[in-house]
Amino acid sequence: RQSNPADFLEKPHEMSNIKKVIGVVSGKGGVGKSLVTSLMSVLMNRRGHRTAILDADITGPSIPTIFGLREKATGSDLGLYPVRSQMGISVMSLNLLLENESDPVVWRGPVIAGTVKQFWTDVIWSDVDYMFVDMPPGTGDVPLTVFQSIPLDGIIVVTSPQELVSMIVSKAVNMARLMNVPILGIVENMSYVECPDCKKQIKVFGESHIEQTAAEYGLSVLGKIPMDPALAKVCDAGAVELFEGDWLDSAADKLEELA
Ligand code: ADP
Ligand code: MG
Repeated sequence: RQSNPADFLEKPHEMSNIKKVIGVVSGKGGVGKSLVTSLMSVLMNRRGHRTAILDADITGPSIPTIFGLREKATGSDLGLYPVRSQMGISVMSLNLLLENESDPVVWRGPVIAGTVKQFWTDVIWSDVDYMFVDMPPGTGDVPLTVFQSIPLDGIIVVTSPQELVSMIVSKAVNMARLMNVPILGIVENMSYVECPDCKKQIKVFGESHIEQTAAEYGLSVLGKIPMDPALAKVCDAGAVELFEGDWLDSAADKLEELA
């Protein structure tokens, strides 16, 4: 028999006051989940919202790298303190706690889920308008357990044109329905390449079915992100906060409206 999944939801630290929590999910790794989490956070932060990132992708934590965080997180009797990015985004990630970041984390599901839970219950987030959660990839046991411990207000699904988008979206829709959390929209990453000379959008992976799939499920497409070497470069250099792109503003408008 299934109990109500909402019964497992944990309370945040008593010194945290978090208004909106948005989970970022994907069908598999490598489609740009962390990149979308980072960009959305940067956009909201630029718009003057107090923004935070909870890096729940314990076995592949990449948020500290994308933001170029060098400090480690500190703690006191009261709890753990997130690390602030240059522009003031609060981040908590396993990489900010590990002495040696290159040590691979080979933990089983329950330990991973327990760690994420602690990022929610034991971190002193203070006042946050938007918290983005970089979820573990997929819709398996681990993401589901994480799902059950953090009260998400909405979900963003990241897809790429190489994937079987309809299946990923339908899985995400099922997971969201189970938890009674709305899907805010779909972001298609690596959607096209822009010709540097003529500015034409070239669809290297062929026509995408994202609009069709979104319409089928009554969802909106939050944005389409081009395959952009400059974007990969700023992420590798830990300078995502400096990135500018034409398509950024409309994605932020839509997200703000939906959230
Ligand atoms: P995930 O979190 O889903 O595993 P990442 O966000 O880490 O994926 O992205 C995987 C890799 O692809 C990273 O090195 C990232 O910089 C690169 N990447 C993702 N999206 C783009 C894009 N639109 N343009 C260029 N590089 C990208
Ligand atoms: Mg990632």
